Amino acid sequence: MKENILFRPWRELKQLQDRKLHHFITNHLYPFSPYYRGLFDKNKIKPDEIKTVKDLSKIPFTSKQSFIDLIKENPSQSNLAFLLQPDSEVIRKFLPKKELMRFLFLGAVNGKNHLKACLEKEYRPLFLTATAGTTELPIPFLYTSFDLENLKVYGKRIIEVLGIQKDQKAVNVFPYAPHLAFWQTVFAGLAGNIFILSTGGGKTVGTEGNIRTLLKLKPQFLIGVPSFVYHLLKTAKEQNHSLSFLNRIVLGAARVPKGFKRKVSALLHEMGGSEVSVMGTYGFTESRCAWVECPTDIEISSGYHTYPDKEVFEVIDPETGQVKGEGEDGELVYTNIDARGTCVLRYRTGDLVRGGILYSPCPYCGRTVPRIASDIVRASNMKNMQVSKIKDTLVNLNNLEYLLEDKEEIDDWQIEIVKKDQDPYEVDQLILYVSLLDSVNRQEFAARLNQEVLASSEISFNQINFVSSEEIQQRIEIESAVKAKKIVDKRPKI
Ligand SMILES: [Zn+2]
Repeated sequence: MKENILFRPWRELKQLQDRKLHHFITNHLYPFSPYYRGLFDKNKIKPDEIKTVKDLSKIPFTSKQSFIDLIKENPSQSNLAFLLQPDSEVIRKFLPKKELMRFLFLGAVNGKNHLKACLEKEYRPLFLTATAGTTELPIPFLYTSFDLENLKVYGKRIIEVLGIQKDQKAVNVFPYAPHLAFWQTVFAGLAGNIFILSTGGGKTVGTEGNIRTLLKLKPQFLIGVPSFVYHLLKTAKEQNHSLSFLNRIVLGAARVPKGFKRKVSALLHEMGGSEVSVMGTYGFTESRCAWVECPTDIEISSGYHTYPDKEVFEVIDPETGQVKGEGEDGELVYTNIDARGTCVLRYRTGDLVRGGILYSPCPYCGRTVPRIASDIVRASNMKNMQVSKIKDTLVNLNNLEYLLEDKEEIDDWQIEIVKKDQDPYEVDQLILYVSLLDSVNRQEFAARLNQEVLASSEISFNQINFVSSEEIQQRIEIESAVKAKKIVDKRPKI
């Protein structure tokens, strides 16, 4: 069954989005968010002025740094300033007159305790997911029961967009942790009425346990992080198992290049699979939801299908902050318009999207929601490297990761950043450990790879070490780490 809202004409969805944005700011965000009330007041913005998405440009951006600054300022309060917190004083002071009258009426009819219980149900945090430690400080994002209902709505939509049918099954191998990817998948199964077995990934039942689960359950869908899914499929193939039942792979928590999709698809074909689709997902802790691609040919990406009744996406010029037009490259900026708990407005994700946002209906599934192009570079993983005694250079490790993942001849890899001769006062060096698939000429490969890396990053590998796939798996701690250690910075902190 299709959920109608995702198929309504964009013009209608846009009007709905504008209405919800205005309502959210006047009735929830401004009155109950200490951070945003302060921001509006400081910048002399009246909440009532924000009537449509266009008006958002009046509001300053929020960024990860805004959270970190607050946590540093007051560690015990963490990021509570971003949490919606109604109490009798702010309700009286900041709620619009009409809404206040409604509250007073409800209180008079049903009693104050009833009103209090309703507010508690809507606003009291009871769940959290946190950032996965890609930044130094893990930042928790809180959910109320209202947000958990939303997590179900997103989950149901995810099942529909991915095209999972009632009689199909899925295995979720995201690591068991307070991370969005794991829980969004669990809630997708519950809300979509689909059998999803969440194994917890490698850390809980190991590679063998996950393979046994696949063989026993025979799911059509496998959902997880690219590095672990690939490891699982490769091990199953080495053990001569047939996974012919499996032909839909859903990958999360990382950008998935075409070369990687081809590698996964080839593995499945070798184990008897047919009509394989590999779909990517996009999401971040701050959004408390995920967006997915719909099934297409392996060479095509539909883009991520967004939820315009729940959020606003803008694409901006990362230098000037100027809002870009449809299909233009830039940084993704995210705004809640239907949430409680920890809410953000004009949140700079740091993610750069090539191809921007498209507002035309999806040519593959017909949904009319805005779609984010799948070519997203997470700008947050930038490292400064001292390449010579006199020169520092900023290296985008995500670009490097993407380049390596896209290479079909690479089986597995790890990058180490070290100090030359382990001397803290020496220059930095970039070392690659790599296992290649058979029949690749190593010297030729190394030369070609370094040329490409140099062209994209102004830097190349100081050393390329060819090692076995087992050694890489141990290095990246594929089974025991919540996040595979693909890039390790071993430089001493001075
Ligand atoms: Zn689609």
